[in-house]
Amino acid sequence: MKVYKFGGASVAHADNILNVCNIIALEKEPLIVVISALGKTTNAIEKIIHEADTDKAVKMWDELCDEHKTIAKKLNAEEHSIVYLDEYQSEGREIIYDYSRRNSDEFYDQLISKGELMSTTIVVATLIERGLSSKWLDARKMFRSDERFRSANIQWRETEASVQDMINDHVQRYNVMVTQGFIASTRDGRTTTLGREGSDYSAAIISYCINAESMTVWKDVDGVLTGDPRIFPNATLISQLSYEEAIEMTYYGAQVIHPKTIQPIQRKEIPLNVKSFIHPDRNGTIINAAGGLLYPPMIVVSNNQYLLEFSSKDFSFIAERHLSMLFRKFNHYRIRVNMMRNSAISFIVCVSAEKERLELLKEEMAYDFEIEETTNLQLVTVRHYNQSTIDFLTKGKTVLFEETHDITYQMVLK
Ligand code: ADP
Ligand code: ASP
Ligand code: MG
Repeated sequence: MKVYKFGGASVAHADNILNVCNIIALEKEPLIVVISALGKTTNAIEKIIHEADTDKAVKMWDELCDEHKTIAKKLNAEEHSIVYLDEYQSEGREIIYDYSRRNSDEFYDQLISKGELMSTTIVVATLIERGLSSKWLDARKMFRSDERFRSANIQWRETEASVQDMINDHVQRYNVMVTQGFIASTRDGRTTTLGREGSDYSAAIISYCINAESMTVWKDVDGVLTGDPRIFPNATLISQLSYEEAIEMTYYGAQVIHPKTIQPIQRKEIPLNVKSFIHPDRNGTIINAAGGLLYPPMIVVSNNQYLLEFSSKDFSFIAERHLSMLFRKFNHYRIRVNMMRNSAISFIVCVSAEKERLELLKEEMAYDFEIEETTNLQLVTVRHYNQSTIDFLTKGKTVLFEETHDITYQMVLK
């Protein structure tokens, strides 16, 4: 079996959804399709969550649900979807009314997951309308996770068994099985999510569990390029990448694939295609176990970075006990450490995190440390770097921090 994954951009409008259905219809073998929320729906739900304790929230929610219904109508897919869309809408309202009683990360997951539930409902209804034998599968019944809401960890053994059971139950009767990316559930049935942009990872989990023949992620770019084309319009396609190289690129933040995607499929040596949903006939990028490939310089840019410099208030040198205290808190507040350096009297880290979590960390650490913060920085990573690429990237910028190891060059730029 093959696994396809379509992200938000590929299902943003009715026309795009038809395009996705055409791509699906071309596949003759049984197919498992993983789909994200439509367009920017997840961002829109985040805004609603932000307003959850105001009168506006329910109105915003109703508007979002109406937009989904309008798309279903345009696709003639109302008949097979309206009951479910109405149900998600009223469940969403209940969740918003209930907000004050809930732990907020758990609340977030209960509401944000509706995006994927609605999008997959519309896509399946459209496929059925066009005569394709398709089945909607509930990802929450297949993906078992722990209770770390908003960035849940998959419980692999239970997930493998339930994915296999669910697929085996339906594969004889349906050509296409469609499920949600991004969402899972705890053992007691509470919805969790795997972290923003996590649908690629969901597709990798399914691929791993069923030993898929291949996995394809359909994107708005031709494949993996030497850099983000929105920043580097001259970026070129890399037609083949090894798993190792893809892991490194995505770990450093290349947005085109979620960083957790590659390892499960590497373990089973499942080829991963990155292809364009705009030009599905093009070859795209293939990621597999290939060795001995030569790569051009590949650039990854991550914005919204912070440099934090900690020095101890009691004038002691920075020692292991300080570092262990800091790292426990980085973990607690889910702050990602991207680069670091310690000297006798200070410890400097380049981190990325939600602003609120960073403020909490600083507040808590202020008793023991003087903290200096520089905000709004860019972390630039170049794999297979050469001097001309570094010169090009640093032109007119201040390099605050830099490091090389082997073929990787990293710098923090202002
Ligand atoms: P999805 O629709 O599956 O969520 P994303 O929008 O998250 O997909 O990822 C695709 C985007 O990733 C592209 O539009 C592109 O701007 C960006 N991107 C960043 N780095 C790269 C890269 N090295 N190669 C291709 N695209 C990249
Ligand atoms: N809809 C989720 C998000 O926007 C998951 C995904 O698209 O991968 O983060
Ligand atoms: Mg995405």
